[in-house]
Amino acid sequence: MGNNTIKGISTITLHTASHENDNFSHTTPIYATSTFTFGSAQEGMERFKGEDKTRLYSRWGNPTFTAAEKTIEALEARGLTNKNGTPLEVKALLHASGQAAMSTLFFSNLSAGDCLISHYSLYGGSQELMQKVLNEAGVKVILIDIHNEALLLETIQANPNTKLIHLETPANPTLQCVDIEAVCKIAHAHGIKVSVDNTVATPYLQQPFALGADFVFHSATKFLNGHGSALHGVLLGKDLELMHTKVWKWHVLLGGNSNAFDAYLLIQGMKTLELRMEKHCSNAKKVATYLQQHPAIAHVNYTGFTTHPHHTIANKQMKQHAPLISFELKGGIEAGKKFIDAVEICTRAVSLGTVDTLVSHPASMTHMSIPKTEREKYGITDGLIRMSVGIENIEDLEADLAQALAKAQL
Ligand SMILES: *Cc1c(COP(=O)(O)O)cnc(C)c1O
Repeated sequence: MGNNTIKGISTITLHTASHENDNFSHTTPIYATSTFTFGSAQEGMERFKGEDKTRLYSRWGNPTFTAAEKTIEALEARGLTNKNGTPLEVKALLHASGQAAMSTLFFSNLSAGDCLISHYSLYGGSQELMQKVLNEAGVKVILIDIHNEALLLETIQANPNTKLIHLETPANPTLQCVDIEAVCKIAHAHGIKVSVDNTVATPYLQQPFALGADFVFHSATKFLNGHGSALHGVLLGKDLELMHTKVWKWHVLLGGNSNAFDAYLLIQGMKTLELRMEKHCSNAKKVATYLQQHPAIAHVNYTGFTTHPHHTIANKQMKQHAPLISFELKGGIEAGKKFIDAVEICTRAVSLGTVDTLVSHPASMTHMSIPKTEREKYGITDGLIRMSVGIENIEDLEADLAQALAKAQL
């Protein structure tokens, strides 16, 4: 049975990787090797000439990486077809981290003199990569309120060298959402490609290729791995020719390859993606509702609430609402600190998408390097607390929140 006939997310994540395996091992082997052997000079020459460069040198590819890549390809292309009705094929490249995958994305699509358009409220590392590294490399980076279509059009017209529009939706930590389909229509009408950071939604909730995206990016460190056991990034593209040539070339020359052990951890983690996401999402809805009615809370950002400014966009493009929320206490930053210190079940840590609930403070942690005046423009205030809702039993989570909020009010 080929991947194209598999319909369900769990079937994909349980069975795709097992095809990359020659020795009847039930789980995907960890190919801990830097290089691969040839039987003869002739065989070596043929393998170097071939399409499949995964059995030459591990910076170029490795069977354990391939197993992870094939699984993510199947997830992102699941149920999608080309214009002529044939199943959509996409190519994934596994990297050492999200940042490494994003570097390959930007450097293979942009060179000095080109322009990149993106929006506010991005992951801190993405914004820094744009403003500190790309800017120095001569790429013009423009961050705008991309919900304003007239402004987007105006920006494109004023910058005819725009090659890429990068979206992050939902965006961490205020859960702002961008209408992927609407932006793709405008971009494509001007010959511009669109990349989408799908880290927070995962292919369980949202498939950007269905909405017109040219590239999909993941920090697979988060929900795809799910257990916080390793860092990984993945870049997927639907222009196979481009992915196998220019993008692949930048990937192997920048050297941001993954390693076999981390790829194995990712494959194992993804097996329960669907089960985890169902529980993450249902817990997040309950936690957000609980917090919303609590007298100590000023406001909660959760796309499932009709009061969230992008509730309609989220409903349009996501299957359910993402399990990431942020909130502010009425007591501001001081109450927030007390709350973070008082939690007993929730884990105090940055990152997101792990099986346990994580709480962090964006202003002093993930978004520390973004100037205060700038982050406040898009809602990252000093008192904002971010919560990546885990899969704990909901009674225990609510009890922990209740006791921590009581202490925060003292
Ligand atoms: C974590 C994260 C990244 C960066 O990924 P790393 O794996 O930490 O390099 C990019 N985008 C989003 C939305 C993230 O949450």
